[in-house]
Amino acid sequence: MKIDILSIFPEMFDGFLNNSIIKRAIESNKVEIKIHNFRDYSKDKNKKVDDYPIGGGEGMVLMPQPIFDCVEAIRKEDSYVILMSPQGSKFSEKKAFELVEKKHLILICGHYEGFDERIRTLADEEISIGDYILTGGELPSMVITDSVVRLIDGVIKKDSYSNESFNDNLLDYPVYTKPINFRGMKVPDVLLSGHHAKINEYRKNEQIKRTRIRRPDLLEKSWNYESKTIFS
Ligand code: SAH
Repeated sequence: MKIDILSIFPEMFDGFLNNSIIKRAIESNKVEIKIHNFRDYSKDKNKKVDDYPIGGGEGMVLMPQPIFDCVEAIRKEDSYVILMSPQGSKFSEKKAFELVEKKHLILICGHYEGFDERIRTLADEEISIGDYILTGGELPSMVITDSVVRLIDGVIKKDSYSNESFNDNLLDYPVYTKPINFRGMKVPDVLLSGHHAKINEYRKNEQIKRTRIRRPDLLEKSWNYESKTIFS
């Protein structure tokens, strides 16, 4: 898989690309990630990428020319172009599973007041990471890249995400590690029993219980919630 990210602040990605699971995924050629500074594509003599909003108003607006030229230089037949935008559809684990099927993602990070409206015509989709406004699309593009890359085959063990929060619209079950007794707080006996069927039943029950308490909205969406209630 290939991911190209367009940003005028490429240094923001240094820590992200050079640590932990993302770094390993790049080193083992599971993913190729490139950051493109679309300022380099500006035809303005001062490499300008933004200007005042026509008609008045606060802030600076990203101009179409540098972003169009940059996307056109890297876009291929099978590219999927996504605009980071608080006006887009809300990002989710389900969307991450959809995006990991794409061969090539191009993520465009806005900044300042946002994009000239015509830039939207470049995008196959606009994605928001939540109902709040950030200073730029860099963090959202890292959020999306991170959640997609970990789903690429071989990046982490399949088991790690087949049982995770949001799969089947359920939150994850509680997990424990050593010691068995920490300051009087004990690991539930069932987890020490070695009885796998019982452990699975306990965990499924906990998933349903905690989803019901913390995120009842997820249960409403769960298409096979009824079949999951056999343990509750
Ligand atoms: N004035 C714009 C917001 C601009 S914020 C509006 O109200 O819609 C500047 C840039 O940060 C955006 O163009 C977008 O690329 C990015 N951004 C900010 N918040 C975001 C969010 N919640 N999700 C995705 N991108 C976001």
